Amino acid sequence: MKKTIKRIFAGTLLTGLVTISGLVTIIFFPEPLFANKLEHGQFNVYSNEKIDGNTKIVLDNALKLVESSELYDRTLKFDIYFSYNTLFNKIDDALIGHGPSARATNNYVTFKVAVDVKRNLFFPTFYQECEGNLTYLLAHEIVHVLQESKYGKIKFNPFKHPEYWKLEGYPEYVARRPVRLTKDYDLVKEIDRYIELESKSTDIWISIDEGGCKAPKYYYKGRLMTEYLMDIKHFTYDKILADTISEDRIYAEMINWKDSIEDKN
Ligand SMILES: [Zn+2]
Repeated sequence: MKKTIKRIFAGTLLTGLVTISGLVTIIFFPEPLFANKLEHGQFNVYSNEKIDGNTKIVLDNALKLVESSELYDRTLKFDIYFSYNTLFNKIDDALIGHGPSARATNNYVTFKVAVDVKRNLFFPTFYQECEGNLTYLLAHEIVHVLQESKYGKIKFNPFKHPEYWKLEGYPEYVARRPVRLTKDYDLVKEIDRYIELESKSTDIWISIDEGGCKAPKYYYKGRLMTEYLMDIKHFTYDKILADTISEDRIYAEMINWKDSIEDKN
């Protein structure tokens, strides 16, 4: 009797282990779950739907943004998965948790929500329904791939990583470069805008652009602090990561700088 129970237990354990290792394998090597593939430059794109020709435009534009980063590496290949409404998404949600619109792991980026490549949009659902810029999102996620590639999985993983403003601020800084390059853009005004939005917000979510999308505050704050350190103080991202001055002190310093510019005008 006891032997039978032991056998059943061992059998169940084995089945469980095989199932879990199978699911984990799928998470890290999802290629076989997708019917269509497009190869383009540094990218391999996977989707169950027919891949829209406009995808190449989004890939090229995102890469142009990323090329401006000190972390850019032309030898890397990036795998892009459009996984909305797929079996992969369900497994990924179950194992890693439902939430972000996209995720970067190893050398791949998964778009978990619906996208419209032709209109360069993605459609977040986690906090509220809205429309976001697909090129910026792709560039943001590729920077996460580059962070992990340069600094290693030990320093950049979901459980251990630099402070959030350093983790998310830099990908935002790189991805939103076109905003900084517009004629009317001004960091001082942008900091004022953040302070105003922050004072009105009752939780951690704050508007980041006109598409109605909100993100946790540290995305916006982190981008502004990164921009201040890189564009005004000429830090590299490497130096920002190595720097030990606290977030509060850097923020206070940035506000002093902003006030001094406003006093002059
Ligand atoms: Zn991110």
